[in-house]
Amino acid sequence: MQDKELYQHILGLDSPWSVANIELQTESEEILVYVKHPRGTSFCCPDCQQVLPCYDHAEERRWRHLDSCQFKTFLLARVPRVKCPEHGVKNASIPWSEKNSRFTLMFERFAIDLLRATQTVTGAMSILRIKWDQTWGILSRAVRRGKERKQCLPMPRIGIDEKAFSKGQSYITLLYDLDNSTVEAIADGNDTESGIACYSQLSDDQIASVEAVAMDMSAAYVKATKQSIPLAEEKIVHDRFHVMQHATKAVDKVRRGEHRQLKQDDDNRLANTRYIWLKSQENLSEKQLALLEDVFTLKLKTGKAWGYKEMLRDLWHHDDAVSATQYFKAWYRSVIHTKLEPMKKVARMIKERLRNVVSYCTHGITNAVAEGINSKIMSIKRRVGGYRNIENFKTAIFFYCGGLDLYPR
Ligand SMILES: [Zn+2]
Repeated sequence: MQDKELYQHILGLDSPWSVANIELQTESEEILVYVKHPRGTSFCCPDCQQVLPCYDHAEERRWRHLDSCQFKTFLLARVPRVKCPEHGVKNASIPWSEKNSRFTLMFERFAIDLLRATQTVTGAMSILRIKWDQTWGILSRAVRRGKERKQCLPMPRIGIDEKAFSKGQSYITLLYDLDNSTVEAIADGNDTESGIACYSQLSDDQIASVEAVAMDMSAAYVKATKQSIPLAEEKIVHDRFHVMQHATKAVDKVRRGEHRQLKQDDDNRLANTRYIWLKSQENLSEKQLALLEDVFTLKLKTGKAWGYKEMLRDLWHHDDAVSATQYFKAWYRSVIHTKLEPMKKVARMIKERLRNVVSYCTHGITNAVAEGINSKIMSIKRRVGGYRNIENFKTAIFFYCGGLDLYPR
């Protein structure tokens, strides 16, 4: 087989395109594959697909293709232009590359596979031997393609949550499809406007299809949801893990306060017990359980607060909202008569939003999916070698967590 024919095969070139010449540049370790078409060939207008005679040719351009052994391989051609009566003089569509891309389709496909497999942008960059901007160009083209192709399917169960971009500085709001574990929308910030901006990225039919929305207890997302989703009051479910997090933090606050007090009398009983109070009973080791037993029987406030926290967990084990509400009310009455201020604060907070806490019994959703995606985002963030800007961060989230069809065709 002649080398021209070989490359014709490797490149998957079809009529009217063929390989005209191949150049091996040993010094730069590059292979240049020149591609041509016969005279008198007709091409399509890229806008209306009308078949037109070749008008002239654009300047020669090169597209990076998959390496031939260790040699960087480029495809070179002068793109034919057509003169469409409607759209004017245009570059004809070429079969090996997308408009405005400096890579062949095969190269982009390989780059996408590599990026997905390695989940590190810098790692993929060095294997592909392309630059930072080119890599992000491939990522963002892939995401744009995927978004254009994405069908607006119903989304009965969704979640909304915030995510920090850089430590304590800027936030983004993410909207999740809980059934498919995908990120469906992203907006800047973590306020009411951000929530609304996320919802506005869904189609009217998708908005109408929403049956339940999981979220933390932040007022901003409640407000955004009420403004965007019809009958939101019945659909909001405050994520149980977020609620329990508040209770766990309250136990820790009680412990810290009490420890400080005890220490004044040289009483160190609560030293080094922090993690015991943060965990749930069934997750403790035997040694920790023994220690817990000790502190608990000493009738310390911390033990009491921990007991209330553990009792609160049963709130989510009821079959219906009515019995869950009754359970909460009894719990609330006992907590509110204690002197455990941090715990009382949590009790009041839940009471205020009780309807949308016990709605768990009806909808059974949590934002656990969101937490899963969050940890995925965090691990990508670690391995991606920094995002440099927030747009890249969003692109990476859609690329890795958007459930999109990313490949060029
Ligand atoms: Zn046209």
